Amino acid sequence: MSMQVYLDYAATTFTAPEVVTAMTPFFTESFGNPSSIYSFSERNRKAIAKARQQVADVIGASADEIFFTSGGTEADNWALKGAAWRGRSKGNHIITTKIEHHAVLHTAQFLQENGFDVTFLDVDAEGRVNLDDIRKAVTEKTILVSVMFANNEIGTIQPVAEIGAFCREKGILFHTDAVQAVAHVPIDVKAMNIDMLSLSAHKFYGPKGVGALYIRKGTRIENFMHGGGQEKGRRATTENVPGIVGLGAAIELTSGRMSESSPRIGKLRDMLIEGVMESIPHAKLNGAPSGERLPNNANFSFIGIEGETLLLDLDSAGIYGSTGSACSSGSLDPSHVLMAIGLSHELAHGSLRLTLGEEITEEDIQYVLSTLPGIVKHRREMSPLWEDYMKKIEGGR
Ligand code: PLP
Repeated sequence: MSMQVYLDYAATTFTAPEVVTAMTPFFTESFGNPSSIYSFSERNRKAIAKARQQVADVIGASADEIFFTSGGTEADNWALKGAAWRGRSKGNHIITTKIEHHAVLHTAQFLQENGFDVTFLDVDAEGRVNLDDIRKAVTEKTILVSVMFANNEIGTIQPVAEIGAFCREKGILFHTDAVQAVAHVPIDVKAMNIDMLSLSAHKFYGPKGVGALYIRKGTRIENFMHGGGQEKGRRATTENVPGIVGLGAAIELTSGRMSESSPRIGKLRDMLIEGVMESIPHAKLNGAPSGERLPNNANFSFIGIEGETLLLDLDSAGIYGSTGSACSSGSLDPSHVLMAIGLSHELAHGSLRLTLGEEITEEDIQYVLSTLPGIVKHRREMSPLWEDYMKKIEGGR
């Protein structure tokens, strides 16, 4: 069989077989509604309680601070809209960054259209937010700071603990979208002074369509879905029991092997980065150096090439990557993250994100390194953009 290498784990992961096994009984024999008081539903209630504890344990929270959602997008929406709605008598100013996932960015824009004043902070060339910029942006009306834990496109990890300490001191709520970070890097919501944190199961070998919002005890935000009494009446709807069980099983499984798997994946990622930078002329690595970057993320720009055509060529070779984030592929606009770190349109359009996961081997990386340079070379030979670029360089000599 020809090689197939999936390198889009930041878009989504497979569901681990152990996780599927844990979920299965809750589709079939244990299907009772957890809100029903008969003993038949007892197993479901207990399973939800166990999952809540599993999530809490991994991020240093207590179980009653975990609220299940339909995924990262919903958790982000709840955090921002909930904090804005509840905090509006105190102030209407929100601080976030230009490199957030659209789940935060578009929610912040919605709030802006509805009377809130939002500051979208710049980041540096490696995608890092500067605490001083947050400090300067704060006014007496600031009610919320939302800064992602790690970026989904370029993998840069933010100085979350510093931001948390600052916000706590100022009495401003601090939310972090940790969808790409949970179970991949250590997180302690208490030590990092995080008031709200979003996570999503399908980024760590759990099922799609389930996530959670951590809400620190005492944090005043509005309830999200009105209806029944589920999730303490804060997020109504009959619980997605198999999904919640899957989330719990996946977070325990993935974080349990993190100390072994993250360094292993990080080494393969570094091998990929070094190989690409050595074998492809004029390649650019986007994002921060290894220590401040998610262990599974590599993001490059190849001047003279369209990311979309690169993806198609890679697809033909059995390699699956992405350009920008999966959610925005199909759009012709360059990635807002790559623009925010100062890339030209040409470089942003020529970007390739490769994200590694549990099943990636050295052989897979070797295969990519033996395939990608030829594809880039071939595409550049046909590219007027590349020709112009070379002329510019040669003219500048
Ligand atoms: N936030 C970040 C940083 C993400 O990477 C994603 C998904 O790619 C989301 C939020 C949305 O998560 P979900 O797909 O669970 O709604």
